Amino acid sequence: MPQHIDIAVNLLSSRLAADINSVISNAVEHHVSPLIVIGSDIAESIESATLCQQYPQQLYSTAGIHPHHASSWNEDSPEQLTLLAANKHVVAIGECGLDYNRDFSPRDKQRQAFEAQLALAVELQMPVLMHCRDAHDDFIAILKQYRHKLPSAVLHCFTGTETELLACIDLDLYIGITGWVCDERRGAELASIVHHIPDNRIVVETDSPYLLPRSMRPKPKSSKNLPQYLPYIVDSIAKLRNQAYEELAAHCYANSISLFNLGDD
Ligand SMILES: [Zn+2]
Repeated sequence: MPQHIDIAVNLLSSRLAADINSVISNAVEHHVSPLIVIGSDIAESIESATLCQQYPQQLYSTAGIHPHHASSWNEDSPEQLTLLAANKHVVAIGECGLDYNRDFSPRDKQRQAFEAQLALAVELQMPVLMHCRDAHDDFIAILKQYRHKLPSAVLHCFTGTETELLACIDLDLYIGITGWVCDERRGAELASIVHHIPDNRIVVETDSPYLLPRSMRPKPKSSKNLPQYLPYIVDSIAKLRNQAYEELAAHCYANSISLFNLGDD
């Protein structure tokens, strides 16, 4: 059975945190391991890094400030993230980026926090895990200044248009695809363009507990998305790309390893 790496799990979200052991063991049973645990602010990044120590080889984490929390970026943040990044389980700076869909933080603060985290990733020579919603032009303009100095970069949960996807591929980004692609309504455009992503740049993720794949049958009783559903997402993407499931899974696995330098510790 092909093995999968879930590159974005919000394991400390309240809907998963009570049940971490079984979330991980059910994922392993479905050949999904390791999981990348997302840090979306300083506190959660610390908690994620600590959690990884309890599950070596099964969990890795990111350290960063999500655009929703960009208002919390301050002069201490770079040092706090630098300390976190020294932890061997921390494999990327992020989740960072821009979200003009929700605008939970003012846009100027979002741009400032994003740019500062890119600069930090360059300084530390760490991969970055990025988020972008309804902010493509600013996202590309900022990222362009840093991209050539970054070792690797992934735009997780890609949900943009064909033009936006091609611009991201042009910047040699890894592209993270979630169960959004299984949503026959809002995921239709993504489903039609997912074939553009080169074999050596596609990675897969559940973004659980969000984004339960809508086309799953039988429909899970709970709307809570879980890492164990990742093989279903890979199978759906493989069909859209006209590619064998095993072949796509092997590409995504190898891409995740090289994106995050896994297995180097
Ligand atoms: Zn995100």
